[in-house]
Amino acid sequence: MTGLVASDLIRRYQRSNKPFTALDGVDLEVRPGTRTAVVGESGSGKTTLLRMLLALDRPDAGSVELDSAAVAPGSARSLRWFRRRVQYIPQDPATSLDPRRSVVDLVATPLRLLGLGGDHSALARNALAAVGLDQKFFERRPSELSGGQNQRVAIARAVACEPDYLLADEPVSGLDLDLREQVLTVLDDLSARTSTALLVVTHDLSVVARLCGDISVMCDGRIVETGKSADVLTTPAHPHTRALLDAVPRLHSV
Ligand code: ADP
Ligand code: MG
Repeated sequence: MTGLVASDLIRRYQRSNKPFTALDGVDLEVRPGTRTAVVGESGSGKTTLLRMLLALDRPDAGSVELDSAAVAPGSARSLRWFRRRVQYIPQDPATSLDPRRSVVDLVATPLRLLGLGGDHSALARNALAAVGLDQKFFERRPSELSGGQNQRVAIARAVACEPDYLLADEPVSGLDLDLREQVLTVLDDLSARTSTALLVVTHDLSVVARLCGDISVMCDGRIVETGKSADVLTTPAHPHTRALLDAVPRLHSV
C-alpha cells in the first residue's frame, strides 16, 4: 500500500511498576501528498505514535510500513532509505539543535549523514531561504536566534533532503501568535509547493483548521475518530472530540 501506514500498534510502558498501555491498537494511514492532524489531550499517546512512525521506538505489537516495506528501529545506515523519505520536526527545536554549530551547518549535517550527493552547503542555504531565513542568520548559533527562527531552522533541517513525509510534533506550541502564524505559513507553503505529506501532532484544534484536511482524534492510546477536518470540527461524532471542541468554543463558528 502506498503511504506511511501504522497497523494495530501497541506500546506498553512500565509506570510505578505497573504496565501502562500508551498505544492500544492504533491504525493510521498517511497517503502521499495529504495533510493529517493527530489531535488529543496531553498524555493521549500522540508523541508515542509519532516515535513509532519515525522508527525511533519499536511497538510491542503491530507494524509500521512505508510503501509496504516494513520499518523498524535500526542502525543509521539500515534506515537511510527511510530517513531520506520521512523526516520530522521535533517538539522543542531549541533543545534538538546542537548549540555549537552554525545554522547552515545544522541544516547540512543530515544531508551528509544520509550520504546524499550534491553541494550540501548550497542545498542547506536553499532550504533556509525556503523557510524565509535571511542570509545574515546563516553563520549564527542557535542561542543567537529567536524561538521562531530556531523553529524555522528545524523545519529547514527536516526538508533539506526533500522528504516525501514530514512529521511535526506540536510545531507551534510555545510560540507567540506572530511566530506561530509565520511557522504555519512556512509549513503550508512548503507542503503546497513540494507535495510533501504532513502529519502534524497537536493538541490545538486551530492548527488543524489552518493546516490539515484530515484529522485523527486520539484518546487514551486509541484513535476514536477519523475524518475530514471540516466535518469532524463542525459535527464531531465521538464524545471525546466534542469535549475537545468545547474547550475551544471559537471553532464552532468556523
Ligand atoms: P502526548 O504526546 O499525547 O502528550 P505521550 O505519547 O507523550 O502523550 O505519552 C502517552 C502516555 O505514555 C503518557 O501517560 C506518558 O506519561 C506515558 N509515557 C510516554 N513515554 C513514556 C516512557 N518512556 N515511560 C513511561 N511512560 C511513558
Ligand atoms: Mg507529546
